[in-house]
Amino acid sequence: MPPAAPRPPLEGDLDVDVAIVGAGFTGLWTAYYLARADPGLRIAVCEAEVAGFGASGRNGGWCSALFPASASSLAALSDRSGALAQLEAMRESVSEVGRVLAEESIEADFARGGTISLARSPAQLVRARAEVEEARRWGQGEDEVGLLDAAEARGILAASSVHGATYTPDCAVVHPLRLVRGLAGAIVRLGVGLHEHTRVLSIGPGRLVTAGGVVRADTVVRATEGYTPDLPGEHRRLAPIYSLVIATDPLAPGLWERIGLRRRETFTDFRHLLIYGQRTADDRIVFGGRGAPYHFGSRIRPEFDRDRRVFRGLRKSLVELLPALADTAVTHAWGGCLGVPRDWCASVGLDRGTGVAWAGGYVGDGVSTTNLAGRTLRDLILQRDTDLVRLPWVGHHSPRWEPEPLRWLGVNAGLRTMAAADVEERMTGRPSRLARLVSPLVG
Ligand SMILES: Cc1cc2nc3c(=O)[nH]c(=O)nc-3n(C[C@H](O)[C@H](O)[C@H](O)COP(=O)(O)OP(=O)(O)OC[C@H]3O[C@@H](n4cnc5c(N)ncnc54)[C@H](O)[C@@H]3O)c2cc1C
Repeated sequence: MPPAAPRPPLEGDLDVDVAIVGAGFTGLWTAYYLARADPGLRIAVCEAEVAGFGASGRNGGWCSALFPASASSLAALSDRSGALAQLEAMRESVSEVGRVLAEESIEADFARGGTISLARSPAQLVRARAEVEEARRWGQGEDEVGLLDAAEARGILAASSVHGATYTPDCAVVHPLRLVRGLAGAIVRLGVGLHEHTRVLSIGPGRLVTAGGVVRADTVVRATEGYTPDLPGEHRRLAPIYSLVIATDPLAPGLWERIGLRRRETFTDFRHLLIYGQRTADDRIVFGGRGAPYHFGSRIRPEFDRDRRVFRGLRKSLVELLPALADTAVTHAWGGCLGVPRDWCASVGLDRGTGVAWAGGYVGDGVSTTNLAGRTLRDLILQRDTDLVRLPWVGHHSPRWEPEPLRWLGVNAGLRTMAAADVEERMTGRPSRLARLVSPLVG
């Protein structure tokens, strides 16, 4: 998509009820639900670049019911019923995104085809079975996640070396940049002030300081995700970990006949170092994965979005998965940073003492979780006593990351070990024990 003309920056001081830092999905959903709930509320969003500049405009477009922390971790924060309520809220969020897109006439190629997670080795099949057994322990039936045999799996996605798969209907695909731009347009129509090219230099109780002026507000919301470490005092809050993506040329209808993904199912497999893919509305494959290094001191630079080694690795993985794509050109490649909390558990909250609110730490599951965050922040800010404000992630504080060089050593060792575990499994066919040692560091 061509760049959108930026909206004017903040010039001068401003008094509002709610001031939001960051115009990604978190900031925009929060503004959207607040403005819908109370049209009289004065809301300002300050964005350092343009709406959707961050992960929200660049992601793999899985709008899923996945939450980055496991059900048992959520239960440890509350209890079994709290964990179940959070899982249900995630499923509802997928539908809610679709509902708002329809209501606001936002054309973002939304299609709810579910997710197929392929098991492509005996070791991966062990993990697929374990995942379904774990889902059953949490009361999820066949209609929420099921185990497919090899033939059923290949009927959805005719990939190489398929031993089986899991399938869940609880995922939609979206075009992320269309979604984020559509939301930005919707909040402006609702009367929210969206100030682009307005970097916030500091966030404090009741005020945001920007180069163009001070914004005074009863409540301020930090919605800066992977960029959070650049804010004063927030250096060890979240680690920015890079995820990179490639997109192919549109595939010919005959090729799609052979590959499948007829309902635009999102796809992955059970390897350790995550890959993710989708069939776009214009018949390309968008395919991403982790594996780019974490940069010392949580540095974020535009050049880190592009890593030739990772792009080559992604293309190799895609062709290995779908050999029919051997001659298909890769036409686009990009990347961006995720916000990763030390315990891998996203959180949302409002400190009533200071009036400072936040949401983030979604790792790679933010497309739908940001929607839940926006509705939850609405209820917290408007002091509504709803089921949403009682979910286990509300008010959770993740521990801070270790200081450097421990953080750099730990995260990169974790990423490399996951890649090594995949190689080991390919060679031996047996589940790697290496991966289990480091999974708390790299998901
Ligand atoms: C390559 C990639 C693929 C992904 N794929 C998926 C996927 O398929 N499914 C999924 O669920 N999730 C995915 N994610 C994660 C998902 O995109 C994010 O979790 C989600 O977009 C986070 O939204 P956000 O609004 O919190 O953060 P962001 O979208 O990063 O927005 C933060 C905004 O804050 C602004 N900002 C930062 N600092 C300041 C400041 N000081 N002043 C003003 N503004 C500031 C930034 O410019 C940015 O626009 C992916 C992420 C990446 C990078």
